[in-house]
Amino acid sequence: MSKSTDIAGLFDQYVMGTYSPTATVTSGHGCKVRDADGMTYLDFTAGISVLNVGHTHPKVVKAIQDQAATLVHCSNLFYSPSQALLAQRLSKLGLGGKCFFCNSGAEANEAMVKMARLWGADKGKFEVVTMRNSFHGRTLAMCSATGQSKIQHGFDPLPLGFAYAAFNDIESVKEQVNDRTVAIMVEAVQGEGGVIAATEEFMKGVRVLCDEKGLLMLCDEVQCGLGRTGYWFGYERCGIQPDAFSLAKSLAGGVPMGAMVVSPKLADVFKPGSHGSTFGGNPLASAAALAVLDVIEEEGLVARSAEAGVLLREGLQAFVDKYDKVLEVRGEGLLVGLAIEGSAKDVVSACRQMGLLCCMAGENVVRFLPPLNVKDDEIEEALEMIGDALEEVYNPEADE
Ligand SMILES: *Cc1c(COP(=O)(O)O)cnc(C)c1O
Repeated sequence: MSKSTDIAGLFDQYVMGTYSPTATVTSGHGCKVRDADGMTYLDFTAGISVLNVGHTHPKVVKAIQDQAATLVHCSNLFYSPSQALLAQRLSKLGLGGKCFFCNSGAEANEAMVKMARLWGADKGKFEVVTMRNSFHGRTLAMCSATGQSKIQHGFDPLPLGFAYAAFNDIESVKEQVNDRTVAIMVEAVQGEGGVIAATEEFMKGVRVLCDEKGLLMLCDEVQCGLGRTGYWFGYERCGIQPDAFSLAKSLAGGVPMGAMVVSPKLADVFKPGSHGSTFGGNPLASAAALAVLDVIEEEGLVARSAEAGVLLREGLQAFVDKYDKVLEVRGEGLLVGLAIEGSAKDVVSACRQMGLLCCMAGENVVRFLPPLNVKDDEIEEALEMIGDALEEVYNPEADE
């Protein structure tokens, strides 16, 4: 049982079809992964922005191995040194308050919404304004928070307490704010929604509105956080600070982990019994996350993301100039999208055949999320494969 087709067969038979996997990935190192048949790919999905420091980074591997041999889990009934140190690190990088740990992005966003509701409960405020085309996760409440009908369809009745505004349109947000509103939740760059960056003007507008009306500004940094956009956190690009933000995806380098980071004014909203998570912040995940933060700092990956992003986006721009159906390059740092007229699916699968893994963002955008320590020559190699893939999809008759 080693070949890709056998494994795909087992998936078809036994794994519920919530995804449509393509390649079979069995090992990875840095920016490269290998499949069950020995084929090597350049991985510009990085596990959907999870492997920001690359696959099997030696420091992260060692931290996981050491912690696994010492103490994997102890529950939150007891103090854990690595969780304490991680909370301190994230507080110092972020808002100077406290952290809550969980296991995924959806849970981290749920924690933000629960905390906002608890904060507003005395005043009878509970409604959270989110953006159309956003993505906040797959729990029932986060399906409700996500402003996309395709995520919500078939799951009625969805939890109440969300209102939707147009992204990058502050007037639309103002229209949704009323006496019940407690918070505004926004992504600094919409990832799943098509790699669309919030404008600085919009983020500043949301901040001012929250200050004027006494609302909480909540940022979903699950995809755009931890160096991905060329800043530690995506909101920094816009020169504002939210009252709380969520992290997950890349936080523990592939060990499942989510976190909510809050400012001092929200530090004590949750009390014993308000909220919880059995696994949240367990020693294994916390040790992995501490190693990930060390690597980002030691290797200067926040600046590297900004620099490599320019190289990648400049290279992609040439394809916009060359092909009518390639419309636009989008994104910040190494959260990069290539907008296509029609479905992006054919381009993604042509890239895979060339040896490059990338993914979609919505129907019409090819999304590139390489590890932040991707090398210049790996970007050049990827651009060549993207060029070949586009030629095959849009110009199949042309002579070589
Ligand atoms: C991936 C993602 C989530 C959901 O994270 P899970 O770990 O899959 O629950 C939430 N928000 C954003 C912006 C994401 O990209």
